[in-house]
Amino acid sequence: MRFELHAVLTLSADLTGLSKELGAFLESLNTTLLAKEPSRTAAITKWTTHEKTLTLTITSETSLRPHNALLQVKNALGAQFGKSHHLGIRSIAVPKYTITFELDRPPQKPVTIPFASVAIDGKTAVLTITDATEEFLQRNYIDRMITLVKEKVENQYYEGKAEFWKLIWASPEKHLVWTKDPTEEMEKLGWLKQGPTKGKWFYRPQAAAILKTMEYIAIHEVLQPLGFQEVIESHIKPFDIWLKTGHMEGMPYEFYYVVEPKTRDAKDWERFIDLTKITKEVDVAELQKNLSPPAAGIAYAQCPMIYWSFKGKTISESSLPVLVYDKTAISARYESGGRHGIERVDEFHRIEPVYIGTRDQLLDLREKLLERYTHVFDDIFELEWRKAWVTPWYMQQAGKIGESGTQETGTMDFEAYMPYRGTRKDSEWLEFQNLSILGDKYITAFNIKAQKSELWSGCSGIGLERWTAAFLAQKGLDPDHWPKGFTRYLSKLPTGIEFL
Ligand code: ATP
Ligand code: ZN
Ligand code: MG
Repeated sequence: MRFELHAVLTLSADLTGLSKELGAFLESLNTTLLAKEPSRTAAITKWTTHEKTLTLTITSETSLRPHNALLQVKNALGAQFGKSHHLGIRSIAVPKYTITFELDRPPQKPVTIPFASVAIDGKTAVLTITDATEEFLQRNYIDRMITLVKEKVENQYYEGKAEFWKLIWASPEKHLVWTKDPTEEMEKLGWLKQGPTKGKWFYRPQAAAILKTMEYIAIHEVLQPLGFQEVIESHIKPFDIWLKTGHMEGMPYEFYYVVEPKTRDAKDWERFIDLTKITKEVDVAELQKNLSPPAAGIAYAQCPMIYWSFKGKTISESSLPVLVYDKTAISARYESGGRHGIERVDEFHRIEPVYIGTRDQLLDLREKLLERYTHVFDDIFELEWRKAWVTPWYMQQAGKIGESGTQETGTMDFEAYMPYRGTRKDSEWLEFQNLSILGDKYITAFNIKAQKSELWSGCSGIGLERWTAAFLAQKGLDPDHWPKGFTRYLSKLPTGIEFL
């Protein structure tokens, strides 16, 4: 890696008479200030003066980046010549900064990033930043920009490849009662109503009863027996939480954003209210004048806010493992494509258990969770399902679909055969649930500690629409044909409402 920075310093007085002294001082810095440790050296390789400007070239091949060195040089110049010569540094400009580094492999197509132009020849990349300000350099974006170029090139090799998927276990084939799409059939029966907007559903009493039964089973057959305690979180996630979990860079195109009114003073809303009264329409342009820019979004998953609730806390050993779940926050995701079924929706109901504990506690918990889930899917739903290792979401979003976790950490998907979609072999099975152990990723991000133990965490997404879709796709809508295990919880549907 090689850095070369050109800087123009404008000083408060003419430097013509000072040229020699200045030169000697700058040269001395190369063996003192800029060479304190062998692994952290930079060099002023060229300098010229013209009237009040001093032009410097600083190069480095070490972790002492020239932009950091420049700020040190600026301070040293101030200290050396400030008092003795009444010389102040008025401004710093960096007309050109180039960074040359090697990639693991050559890109397959051009790469662009903000703040710099990128030129790549074979495996050698050159970032060129022009007209950078001192403020920009102080922000230390440079190393992240280098990492981003490397990541974008690497991701090109994963594009279009099949996602990582490794079967762990599959149930035997089960007795399936029909091959219809349960959503369509429930709509025909009036159990469900689509809308009112993209990917949303209105669950009438019959469908609501099934969804609520799923929730009851998840809580009473899985979470309560394992000692999980319920928490209630907010639906609305401020951006700083998603910045910490990585969701903000991972899936900003899938969020439903939330805006607040600029003011809640009715006077400021007078024109909007008047327009609404007269036109009986929403004047969106007028409305926007009264809204703040977005600073939050609706829940994508529940775990980020659960982690936030532990931010900076030290958890007592006696509370480990922490076992909590939220079933209140509703998830919203701007899914691609049109509306299809209750299994891929823009608004859905999940229960998300989150667990925090030592590595051993979590590996043990995973076995117990698997045991309880298996009981539900085998004995209660009599489902045809399978388990597979998949790429954890945060790796997926970084484009690394070819990687799994270590399988101590990592994500397991649970998938169900959906007879209406085709044959077992050729159709896409439905991911109705997952289970992750994520190591210390979020523990570190939210600075969560225990008295003695090193902590890991994980979560499991129980999608109630997906449980429902999987069950009904295999077992049909007639309670008389439902497995005994399930009818113990729901044997008769509500009568519902008849429409004329
Ligand atoms: P998919 O790949 O199907 O989009 P995902 O990987 O985005 O799923 P996760 O983020 O792992 O899903 O969410 C965990 C659980 O939430 C899923 O197993 C599923 O039960 C549920 N879920 C996710 N997206 C949806 C959706 N659009 N509609 C209904 N349930 C969903
Ligand atoms: Zn989660
Ligand atoms: Mg998804």
